[in-house]
Amino acid sequence: FCADGREVVLNLAKNPTGLNQNIELLCRDPSAKSVYVVVNDNPNDGRDVSWIWDVDFERLTRESGTEPVAVGGLRANDLQVRMKSAGIKAALVGDVREALAFVGSQANDVPLYVLCNYSALAPTKGELEALAAGGEVSGGDVPSVDGPGAAPTSLLLAAKPGPRTHKGPQRRLVIAHLYPELLNLYGDSGNILCLRKRIEWRGMQAEVREVHVGDTPAFADLDLVFVGGGSDREQRIVCDFLLAQRSELVGYVEDGGVLAAVCGGYQLLGDSYLMGDEKVPGLALVDLYTDRGTPRIVGNIAIRSDIAPHAIVGYENHGGRTHLGPGVSPLGKVLCGHGNDAASGFEGCRYRNVLGTYIHGPLLPKNPGVADWLIAMERRYGSAELEPLDDSMELAANQTMLDRLLP
Ligand code: GLN
Repeated sequence: FCADGREVVLNLAKNPTGLNQNIELLCRDPSAKSVYVVVNDNPNDGRDVSWIWDVDFERLTRESGTEPVAVGGLRANDLQVRMKSAGIKAALVGDVREALAFVGSQANDVPLYVLCNYSALAPTKGELEALAAGGEVSGGDVPSVDGPGAAPTSLLLAAKPGPRTHKGPQRRLVIAHLYPELLNLYGDSGNILCLRKRIEWRGMQAEVREVHVGDTPAFADLDLVFVGGGSDREQRIVCDFLLAQRSELVGYVEDGGVLAAVCGGYQLLGDSYLMGDEKVPGLALVDLYTDRGTPRIVGNIAIRSDIAPHAIVGYENHGGRTHLGPGVSPLGKVLCGHGNDAASGFEGCRYRNVLGTYIHGPLLPKNPGVADWLIAMERRYGSAELEPLDDSMELAANQTMLDRLLP
């Protein structure tokens, strides 16, 4: 298209593979360029957009020379948070007209690549056809990432935004991501990226160790352990590996080590879970067990928890129903959705510095209070107050979902 005197390329991108292919295309175009990414979560798109954390948006800045970047669609706030973690300050825009006006305010002759998921494609195409036929673009407010009237600046975020003076010893936290090749559903790796960024943004160091099949992590050297969700089959494989290291894991937990476990990983913490009709023994780290129920629980969820100042939002997709023993606290109370099991009204578990939850989405990027709770609980440097960060984008994404779930 030619719209507002600018070359515009419109492409469909409705999953990580499609977006990565488009990013490949941007990398092959040697000229300067801009991009507008649109993600909706209508039923025909899929309600869950955690797959945006599986897209290599980091490559946009690293290789393709793409700037400026705008995001839109029903899940524009989620995209903005994802872009932020990739070092990109993306502007929130309402439609392709606003995207063109924004690009016009930041750059001259660069083409605009518009990448839309399924239900966003046809309306965007209609808009572009009208603009190409001579519709007006200019006029009205130009959206800005820094608020109205901000001067055009580089939209690539510095590697470490925010304050970075840290009192006390230089902190270096070691995070283990257990078996990402087996348990990594619904953007779970976004949790690792979020932890890493929030540590680095404070001027501390983060080392991420991926623990793969066959590896035996030295649990005593770790500060944070994360295990994600997965299908029943993968969950069982991981359980067998972890059972072989159970005494080290028990030692880590009982010594106050921080462990965050999502969905399939959460179920593994308990005495047992059901795989079909078979009762599979779990790690018995926490007094809980999981049976099954119908229907499968799928959808957005919001809970209230003592560990975070804002409601926690995310996405759940599980057949299991988890029951807590008398000495185990839930992570929080369900405001919308299901959590452990509909009858209890509670979600997740807390035991020492272990947090178990059904919340994917991924859990941490839109719930910065939970991420900081995990970071602050690490045992190496003792509990210390973390410097506050500018979480306005993260909290806007959180609030947008909360407004939708609890109108
Ligand atoms: N397989 C488990 C269940 O369905 C966990 C699924 C998940 O991790 N999302 O209950």
